[in-house]
Amino acid sequence: MKPETLLVHAGAEPDPATAAVAPPIHLSTTFRHGPAGELEHGHEYIRESNPTQDRLEAALAAIEQGAAALAFGSGMAAASAVFQSLRAGSHVLLPRDVYHGTRAYAREFLGERSVTHAAVDGCDCDAIEAAWRDSTALVWLETPSNPLLEIADIAAVASFAHARGAIVAVDSTFASPALQNPLALGADIVMHSTTKYLGGHSDVMGGALVFRERGAWHERAALVRGLQGAVMAPFNAWLTLRGLRTLSCRIERHCRNALAVATFLASQPAVARVRYPGLASHPQHALARRQMRDFGGMLSFELAGGREAALRVASRVALFTNATSLGGVESLIEHRASVEGAHATSPPGLLRVSVGLEHPDDLVADLAQALA
Ligand code: PLP
Repeated sequence: MKPETLLVHAGAEPDPATAAVAPPIHLSTTFRHGPAGELEHGHEYIRESNPTQDRLEAALAAIEQGAAALAFGSGMAAASAVFQSLRAGSHVLLPRDVYHGTRAYAREFLGERSVTHAAVDGCDCDAIEAAWRDSTALVWLETPSNPLLEIADIAAVASFAHARGAIVAVDSTFASPALQNPLALGADIVMHSTTKYLGGHSDVMGGALVFRERGAWHERAALVRGLQGAVMAPFNAWLTLRGLRTLSCRIERHCRNALAVATFLASQPAVARVRYPGLASHPQHALARRQMRDFGGMLSFELAGGREAALRVASRVALFTNATSLGGVESLIEHRASVEGAHATSPPGLLRVSVGLEHPDDLVADLAQALA
């Protein structure tokens, strides 16, 4: 089945108890079992599983072409479950440009667990080879990356890592399952902050991991989730499932609008550089074209006037909201280095934009007046 159809139908069977077409929300924290703990319908306690979350996981596994999925309370809970699954003594490669929370997790917590890590250019297989160690167990990719929109070659990195006995996990949040399926390209785990495009309305937090195989990594991440209580609440699973149903329609508009905004920005003398994989000027445009179905709703741009000029534009926009996060219906803009705080790596003149579903003419007009 095509992704558009799966996004509507996966995990959407009518409720067997009532024939309701919209899925029920099961809030029960506990489930009746037999005298020796025999499960009646596969569930025992909400920290392990619940029927609403089951539906979301079934849908995500189908859409990402995986064997199993796990839903988490946030994207960071999902990402950190992978890192927590590593054995002491392992080595991890992370991309140089990566969500600042992922970088902070590695900086603050990997070392104390005797896991070493190095940051490499995720787009450069030679750099990955140079940083490789015998103990490298995991290559973490984020593509497109946040906030520089760099594109890593998932298939190339997966075949390199597999030949050396390591696995590859891909944070595919910026693309969403509508635009890119890393498992089909050879990755072992795909991670999403479902807070973004999957939820789609800036009103529900969550995260997910989808696994190519139901093996040791799935088992260990499920253990981490259950024992740390990093679970998704049933209402959040229900809202995320609802978001999924309209993802392909929303993403089409996000992509169309982002291309219009990126094209406009690229024509502006005040703008030194636009980073959007859909522009022919993007260094990995050809790879993005091969690996993604479209180029997404995220872009960033740098002002020729640096930090002060960027802050001026961010303070002048009227339709765009200055806010962090992404993937909702409304357009957001932020001065990324300010949001990243003390360990910021974003260029000082960079603004990151989540292009929403408004009319592109209105978005372009707002940016034009802010740049004037
Ligand atoms: N990965 C990426 C690429 C993100 O942009 C974010 C959040 O902005 C996360 C992971 C973390 O997700 P969450 O905020 O749901 O924990």
